[in-house]
Amino acid sequence: MTWPANTPKRDDDALAGIEVTDDFEPFTQRNDAFSRAMWDDTVRTPKTDAFFASYRMEAAPRRGDGFTQKDFALRNASWLISDVVSDRSAADGRREGFQAPIAADTPVAPEAVEVDDPAKMAAEVKRIATFFGADLCGVTDYDRRWLYASRVDTRDMSAAENELPEGMTSVIVLGHQMDEELVATYPSALAGAATGREYSHEAAIVMQVAAYIRNLGYEAVASMNDTGLVIPYAVKAGLGEYARNQLVITPEFGPRLRFSKIFTNLPLEHDAAKPLGVRAFCDICTACADACPVKALPFGPPSDTQPNVSAIKGVRKWTSDAEKCFGFWAKLASDCAICMRVCPFNRDFTKWYHRAWLKLALSPWRRVALRLAKDHGKRKKPSDWWRSN
Ligand code: SF4
Ligand code: SF4
Repeated sequence: MTWPANTPKRDDDALAGIEVTDDFEPFTQRNDAFSRAMWDDTVRTPKTDAFFASYRMEAAPRRGDGFTQKDFALRNASWLISDVVSDRSAADGRREGFQAPIAADTPVAPEAVEVDDPAKMAAEVKRIATFFGADLCGVTDYDRRWLYASRVDTRDMSAAENELPEGMTSVIVLGHQMDEELVATYPSALAGAATGREYSHEAAIVMQVAAYIRNLGYEAVASMNDTGLVIPYAVKAGLGEYARNQLVITPEFGPRLRFSKIFTNLPLEHDAAKPLGVRAFCDICTACADACPVKALPFGPPSDTQPNVSAIKGVRKWTSDAEKCFGFWAKLASDCAICMRVCPFNRDFTKWYHRAWLKLALSPWRRVALRLAKDHGKRKKPSDWWRSN
């Protein structure tokens, strides 16, 4: 394949656990399961239409514990800020934060502050990101392989040019912790509030961090799920390690995170990937794959097989069957993260005994840690969440 001009095969791939093969092709966003549910009749069904409609209260179903009007009300309210941002350019086919980057509300200051120490600047940006509410922040290089080959024009779901300003050099990756108590109730519409709350948080935080950088006189493009795949950037930025459940497992919050990003030309020192030992643990654990109700997660070692076009081509990794996964979401009328809930790394690492377990899990004694995690991540009843104080 022809590698993007500025991106030869990278020396840091091995460190990040990224195995790119000669068949590699950048991912076309139009092929993700959510986009396909809008244009591809092999994915689009009355249930997928009802899934999207359920995010409006007049179309939300009500059917028992975790799926009552209150559960959908909380979930849909949690998405509100993200929705306000993503809807503001919808008439132009740009669903900001999802199928187009978030448009800048601040011009780039005509005079740029001088940056003579990119390491110090990176530390400052991390501090600012934390100030605005990010739970994790790392910086990596502008690796164009993980940009989408094209974005989606949501007016007709056609492929549109994935435009970023010239001269980007870095990607700032932010992590946003999901609420542990709500995650414990997956699958439920109530649990979907943990997802929506973080999208709303991340929309505000990436916009504010990008505005700060633009006020310093540098380009900054705020991005959520749009423009490129955030997982490889998060791994390269040293925030965590890729796991069987398709999530990035971090030492701070396990897999219970969402990620967002900012593309910039602000001079910043880049972090390095930090392999923790998660890969070795996933090699002996299949809790997520076992628990998946539609068997969308793989067993066995990472591979470069593509279950369907919703998987990126030419990357050896654990890859889900996104059609099966999204089919289950549609059936629920809400997002599912059972594979996050049951993961032994889904713990509160502020507690010493969970930190002790983490140490064990990332050591050659990982089998003992796996045994100790038997029956980990049992579902809590959504109605108990409402009753709890
Ligand atoms: S989100 Fe749910 S359906 Fe999808 S892979 Fe995870 S457990 Fe399976
Ligand atoms: S449940 Fe087990 S196999 Fe799945 S991601 Fe977590 S540690 Fe890895």
